[in-house]
Amino acid sequence: MDPQDEIYRRILEAGQGYEDADNQAPLYLRTTEEMLEEFQYLGEEKAYEVVVTNTNKIADMCEQISPISPEKCPPHIPGCEEDIKNIAYKKAHELYGEPLPEIVQTRLDKELNSIISNGYSVMYIIAQKLVWKSNEDGYIVGSRGSVGSSLAAFMTGITEVNSLQPHYRCGNCKYSEFEDYGVGNGYDLPDKNCPRCGQKLIKDGMDIPFETFLGFNGDKEPDIDLNFSGEYQAKAHKYTEVIFGKGTTFKAGTVGTVAEKTAFGYVRGYFEERGIPVNKAEMQRLATGCTGIKRTTGQHPGGIIVVPKGREIYEFTPVQHPADDPNSDIITTHFDYHSIDGNLLKLDILGHDDPTVIRMLQDLTGIAPQDIPLDDKETMSIFNSTEALGVTPDQINSKVGTFGIPEYGTKFARGMLLDTHPTTFDELIRISGLSHGTDVWLGNAQTLIEQGVVTLQEAICCRDDIMIYLIKKGLPPDKAFKIMETVRKGKALKDPEKWEGFKAIMKEHDVPDWYIKSCEKIKYMFPKAHAAAYVTNAFRIAWFKVHIPLAYYAAYYSIRAKAFDAQWMIFGKEKVKNKMKEIEIKNQKKEATKAELDMYDDLEIVLEMYERGFSFLPVDLYASDSTKFKIEEDKLRPPLNSIPGFGTVAAQGIVEARKDGKFMSIDDLKIRAKIGNSGAELLKEFGCLKGMSQSNQMSLFG
Ligand SMILES: [Zn+2]
Repeated sequence: MDPQDEIYRRILEAGQGYEDADNQAPLYLRTTEEMLEEFQYLGEEKAYEVVVTNTNKIADMCEQISPISPEKCPPHIPGCEEDIKNIAYKKAHELYGEPLPEIVQTRLDKELNSIISNGYSVMYIIAQKLVWKSNEDGYIVGSRGSVGSSLAAFMTGITEVNSLQPHYRCGNCKYSEFEDYGVGNGYDLPDKNCPRCGQKLIKDGMDIPFETFLGFNGDKEPDIDLNFSGEYQAKAHKYTEVIFGKGTTFKAGTVGTVAEKTAFGYVRGYFEERGIPVNKAEMQRLATGCTGIKRTTGQHPGGIIVVPKGREIYEFTPVQHPADDPNSDIITTHFDYHSIDGNLLKLDILGHDDPTVIRMLQDLTGIAPQDIPLDDKETMSIFNSTEALGVTPDQINSKVGTFGIPEYGTKFARGMLLDTHPTTFDELIRISGLSHGTDVWLGNAQTLIEQGVVTLQEAICCRDDIMIYLIKKGLPPDKAFKIMETVRKGKALKDPEKWEGFKAIMKEHDVPDWYIKSCEKIKYMFPKAHAAAYVTNAFRIAWFKVHIPLAYYAAYYSIRAKAFDAQWMIFGKEKVKNKMKEIEIKNQKKEATKAELDMYDDLEIVLEMYERGFSFLPVDLYASDSTKFKIEEDKLRPPLNSIPGFGTVAAQGIVEARKDGKFMSIDDLKIRAKIGNSGAELLKEFGCLKGMSQSNQMSLFG
């Protein structure tokens, strides 16, 4: 804007490697006086005409336009209103018989009516098609966010979370039973046989109100976010084109800005290169001015923008290659995704490890994820003790057995487990909610639980808890909903007048002080449906850890491990322990690198595996996979790429080449598998080339 601001442009250009950065044109917004001065060679009258009269004339000829169309254009799928109804009721009848129990009928009717009347059926049907396709191709899909609150989403297969209250149903005769059993989750119900046909009843129900997803009046625009397997994500993206037609789907573009740290680097670099002394405060001031400037463009990890048939993307946004790379075959929207998601439908098709891990576990064991009992007592016990793993806390340096379990494996999460000693599925969901919130656990629920003011069951863990609790206390449901919305966004104290009103109503209904105070501290809260979906998959993975350990470790190392390193990990327990000690000592001196700390996380799990009595086989040129761990008898065979420094491409080269028969010599291996000297050296160090001669010469002459 002002002439002195040109220094920012100079620094930014220099930071990005422009050699002529110091050659700046005087680019700044001139005042009318300055403009008149620039044009004074035309004479006073003419200058006024050019600078003032004509510019205003042109401005008057233009209408006000916005770069972004205000029009709302969701795609349409013919018949989607009928489809959603048919699919949902068909599934409901399959599970609960005909006629439906009143509780199911009422809720499903209410949800479907509001979804259809508000024009949201198409979003459900798109999600349904994507999930069904993924399931058909062998990958489960995890639901993110609050979509699991919707029973219609469950009945159409979009989420695995059944949001009804805890209940029993019979898989054989469709008998069902909805009573107040005093448990927070269906999987915590005691076993029971069907009073009608004697078969063991199925337990279900996560107890989540639909309002967290669809709003109090069921009219909130649904935002369906799905977690596809990372291996499957690209296919899911392609499939959107099959649903909507070629040329109708685009990757959502993002705008990358200069981060504060980068800006500081630019500033320092600029002055250092020119040998100009500058003090820290000035550097900070200049860095602040450079922060947040557009640096590059990219693509959103899972966002797909859909243009309805018969319309053009150019009506809404230009398109481009990410980072202006003309060689990229990806086309994204030019406008950032949030700028146009009010006009066009945006789908969040993200990639996640859980479905990939579960698929690998299924491939290794033949056990389908849906068949894993979510009420398994032994699996539940590892969240509280190490006994079910057959080890003592001393052996694995942890009092709980959750190393490597999503949501519960980190030091922070394990600490929460020690503080709360969960024994029920409901508590696991609560802990997941607590761990994902901001100022929900630390300085809030943790203190209350420690002081004995509340139990884990009473603490506020997920946003839904607030609404349910307040309704139980007798508050009008719409008020309970509004208070929940205020608290979950961390706005309780931001609007003191409104909050005083809410406080008064809560006090009228005997809501205790600790509860109100707890609400005031909360900055962000997780929806229960998200926690429920994540815990479901975490529990499935934990089940394998307890009952089929080698499959669990194979899947963990293959997919989740960040720094598996055969050199330190496959040659016995002592080597693992020594490496752990080495990193611990470094860490105490704050000298451990990120890579070492990542390796430490993996070492913990490797040590646990040894302590449970399992071990590794050597890496083998013919028996090892390129990237995945294999189970052989009661041992694990590490893949070729677990050798540090031996890349995935080289590993794949060997697997491809060995299909044509044994390698005659090291040279033969190098040529056929396209690996270099250093690759061959690494294989030699790991004993993979034992008995192999350097070249084929001998056999030719012998
Ligand atoms: Zn029955």
